[in-house]
This record gives sequence, C-alpha cells and structure tokens, in this order.
Amino acid sequence: MPENTFIVRIKRQAGPDEAVRWQEFEIRYRPHLNVITCLRDIAERPVTRSGDGTTPVTYDANCLEEVCGACAMLINGYPRQACSALVDNLEKPICLEPLTKFPLIRDLQVDRSIMFENLKRMHCWVPIDGTYAIGAGPRMSPEDQEVGYPMARCITCGNCLEICPKVNEHTQFVGAAIINQVRLFNMHPTGKMHARERLEAMMGPGGIQDCDNAQNCVKVCPKSIPLTESNNEINRQVLKHAIWDWLNFSEGPTERSEEWKKLGIQK
Ligand code: SF4
Repeated sequence: MPENTFIVRIKRQAGPDEAVRWQEFEIRYRPHLNVITCLRDIAERPVTRSGDGTTPVTYDANCLEEVCGACAMLINGYPRQACSALVDNLEKPICLEPLTKFPLIRDLQVDRSIMFENLKRMHCWVPIDGTYAIGAGPRMSPEDQEVGYPMARCITCGNCLEICPKVNEHTQFVGAAIINQVRLFNMHPTGKMHARERLEAMMGPGGIQDCDNAQNCVKVCPKSIPLTESNNEINRQVLKHAIWDWLNFSEGPTERSEEWKKLGIQK
C-alpha cells in the first residue's frame, strides 16, 4: 500500500434482507479529509482495494456542516456525523457501519423516521390555528432563552438513541432527543399551555420511566445538549404532575388538597 493512502472498511448490504458483505477501499490521503469526502472518492471510482468494480456506497448527507443530522453512522464503532469526522483524527483502517437502532435501507443509509413519529407521539409541537391573526404570543425571558437555546440545537441525528441500551426491539423508549424536546416545549411560554398533554404522554409506554440513566446519550451528542439534565427535569415534571393528579387538584379543591395547601404545597 502506498504511503500516502489509507484503508476504509465499509459494511455493505443491498437491502434489509440482503447478505452483509465487507468491502475495503484504498483512499488517497490529503490533509483535512473528512469521512464524507472518502465516500465521495469511492463514488467517483467505485473499485475495491483488491481491484474489483463495485457500486458507490449509499449514505445520507446534506448540509456537510453538522446541522442537518443526516450523515450519522458508526465510525470505528462510535455513532457520529461523517461530515465532522476528520480522517486525521481517526484510527486506521477506518470502519464504517450503519446505525443499528433504525431500519436499514441500504449500506450506510437508515430510516430515522421513528424519531419524527415519537416527536408526534409526545406532542412536541405548539398547536396554532393559522387561519386568522391571533396577535403576538407571550414573550420569552432572556433567562429562559439562554436555557432553551442549547436544547433547540438538536439535529435529530439519532446518535443518542444509537448509544442508549434502553432503545432496543424490546422497548418503545423514545430516547433522550425526544425527552429533551418535551422539556423545550414545556418551558416555552406558548408550548407550556399544552404541557399536561406532553407529560401524560411521557407517563405512557416508552416514556421517561424507561430511562435507566445510563448517561451515554450526553457523551455522543454532537451539539453538546445537556440531555441528562433534560431527563432529570422531565422526570421531576412527570412526578409532580402525577402527584398533583393523584391529589385531585385538577378537579377543584378537595378535602385532601385543602390539607396539602395548609402544609404550604401549591400547584
Ligand atoms: Fe443528535 Fe444530540 Fe439531538 Fe440526540 S439530542 S438526536 S445526539 S443532536
């Protein structure tokens, strides 16, 4: 192998039910290469290291600046974005595999639509009518904006789900990204009007109770979102919501709720 080249090993599969095969490609080294450029090199000349012609590798990519989340894959066994993974910083040979927690489409391309379905399942939106002007919404304080902004940076890449032991075929756990969005919407001045629906959904199948606090999610998030903090906060909100529901506060004052009020507990 010439000195100015390196090897990329890629797990390939023509479809979910097709046979798995590994192929190795020899890539010409240039400074500051990223993994996406390696895949483009292969697409330009789809020939394996042993000289066999093959097809270009299928993968998702879009913005190439760690904003769209599309190019998430396992790089040397670690979930991350192919656009921001620099060859200079990676052990060689570089091993590329698709994320394993999402249905495979082909090669390195997976279907992450379950994340969007789970955002819908947990009511992560603000309902607006849109057919007539309803005026300006409530303002968000600069302090809340400061807390909310890091949470709003999620790119739905799925890395946090990939690394989570509780996201598997035996659970419906929605994962840290979705819990973080519930927190973001619940703190928004308009979004919090529907916090109750989100918390009810979070108490259901696949909700916050499925989190075992492994804390892997926060280590792989490319946007450094405080995911464990969001998990803790939603845990707290759900617990509070459950207790207050149990105390029947939502249905007006009861003898029991009056007693709790005397103890200084307010909803
Ligand atoms: Fe990706 Fe982080 Fe969003 Fe999870 S929370 S989907 S790791 S950006």
